[in-house]
Amino acid sequence: MAEKITSREADYSQWYIDIITQAQLADYAPVKGCMVIRPRGYAIWEMMQRTLDDLFKREGVENCYFPTLIPYSFLQKESDHVEGFSPEVLTVTHSGGKELEEPLALRPTSETIIWHTFKKWVQSHRDLPLLINQWANVFRAEMRPRLFLRTVEFLWQEGHTAHAHATEAHNFAKRMIEVYREFVEETLAIPVIVGVKSESEKFPGAVHTFSIEAMMQDKKALQAGTSHDLGEKFGHAFEVQFQNHLGELSPVYASSWGVSTRLMGALIMTHSDDKGLVLPPKLAPTQVVIVPIFKASNKETVLHAAQLIASELKQQGLRVILDDKEGYTPGWKFAQWELVGVPVRIELGERDINSGTLIVSRRDSGIKDTIQRESVGTIVRDLLVDIQSNLFLLAKRRMDENTQEILDHDALIHYFEQDGGFALANWCGDALCEQQVKQQLKVTIRNLPFHLNEEVQGISGTCVVCGEQAKHRAIWAKSY
Ligand code: AMP
Repeated sequence: MAEKITSREADYSQWYIDIITQAQLADYAPVKGCMVIRPRGYAIWEMMQRTLDDLFKREGVENCYFPTLIPYSFLQKESDHVEGFSPEVLTVTHSGGKELEEPLALRPTSETIIWHTFKKWVQSHRDLPLLINQWANVFRAEMRPRLFLRTVEFLWQEGHTAHAHATEAHNFAKRMIEVYREFVEETLAIPVIVGVKSESEKFPGAVHTFSIEAMMQDKKALQAGTSHDLGEKFGHAFEVQFQNHLGELSPVYASSWGVSTRLMGALIMTHSDDKGLVLPPKLAPTQVVIVPIFKASNKETVLHAAQLIASELKQQGLRVILDDKEGYTPGWKFAQWELVGVPVRIELGERDINSGTLIVSRRDSGIKDTIQRESVGTIVRDLLVDIQSNLFLLAKRRMDENTQEILDHDALIHYFEQDGGFALANWCGDALCEQQVKQQLKVTIRNLPFHLNEEVQGISGTCVVCGEQAKHRAIWAKSY
C-alpha cells in the first residue's frame, strides 16, 4: 500500500510532491532540476500531445524538427532575446574531448535556429505564410525547480510562423492563444484568463506576449501557455526578406507559441484531492476500471461477467481496464485506482450478477450508485461527460470566488496579506507601479485580460498603486 498522501491543508507543497511520486507520474533525476517522467505521467502527456497536435493541424500547422544544439552566436543576433535568455542558457563547450571554437547552446527556445533556416526557405510571397511546429525538449537554467512546473529540461511544443504582414503575425499569435484556451478549458477542464502580458513580463524579443493564466487550489496563478507576436525582430536579425507582388523586398513577420509539461503540474494542482490524482475523462489514459469481487468458488462466473462489460465499453471507444489481479482485497484496489485518478470505477460481485445490477462510482465526487447492467454503456458515457464538465465548473467556481475587484493600494495590501487569490485592479501602465507591488507583496500582473480591456471604451478609474488615471484592467496575483 502506498504511503499516506500529505493533506493539502497540512502542507500544500508536500501534497503536490506526494501526488506525483505516489501516483508514479515522475521521479527526481540525479541532476538537480531534471526529472524522469514515468509511464503513468508520460501517458497523460501523450494524451495532451495527441489532442493539441490535432488542433494545430486544424489550424494548418505542420510538424518538423530542428537540432537541440544552437551556435551561441545565433542567440546574440537579437538583442532583447539574448539579454532575456542569457542567464538561462546551458552551453556545451567541449566535443570529443576538445574545446569548441564556439560554444553551443542547448536550445532554451528555437526562434534563432528556425529564423536562420527560414532565410533559406523564404524568398517570395508564394513561400508565405510558413506555419510549423516541433515537439521537443528544451533547457533553461532554473534556480528554483519544481517537478513539472519548472524544470531545467522540459518537454514542450514550439510553434513558429512567418508572415507577409504584421497584422497577420499578430492575428496568428492571438489565434493560437485562443487554441490553447480551447484545449486547456475543454480537455484539461481548467478555466483560464486570456490576456496580454505587461512589458516587463513579456517574452524576450516579443512585441506582445499573450498568455493563459489559471488559478491553482492554493489560489496562486500558473502561466499555462504563451503565444508571442514577434513583429519583424527575428526576420530583421536573420535577414529574412521576401519579394512582394511588385517585386520589392519586404520584411517578414513572426509569431511563436508554446505549452510545456508544466501543464501536467496545472492538471494536478487544479483537480486532485487528498486521495490522489483526479483526471478529467477526456485526458485520462484509463477512463473506467472494473474491479470484480470474487473468491475461488465463483471466480469464473464473476470474471466472465466482468470481461463482457469491459468489451462492451471498449467497443464504445472507452479506455477500460479490468483489474482481475489476485491476492489483493477490493478495498486495496479501490484506493490504488483512486490514487491514479481513474474517473469511473465499476464494482461487481456474484450478488450483483444475480440481481442484474452493478455498482458505479465516480472519482470526482466519490458518489456511488447501483445501476442496471443493461444500461451500463449509456450510463458510463453520460457519467464521463458529467465528470468532465463538473471538474471544469468546480475549478471555475473556485477561480471566480477567489477573484476580487480591488480599488486602492491599502485594499491591495490587505487582500494579499489575507491570503488573497486574483485581484482585479486598474493599472496606469507604469512599470514602476508594477515593480513596487512585486517587491512589496511578491505579487505580479499576470495579464491584462482581453475581455476587460478590449470591449470597454477606455478605462475609467485610477491606478491601484499610484492613484493616477488608469489605462488597463489587470489581474494581479502571486504565481508559480
Ligand atoms: P516561453 O517560451 O517562456 O513563453 O514559455 C513557453 C511555455 O513553457 C509557457 O507555457 C511556459 O509556461 C512554459 N515554461 C517556461 N519555463 C518552463 C520551465 N522551466 N519548465 C516548464 N515549463 C516552462
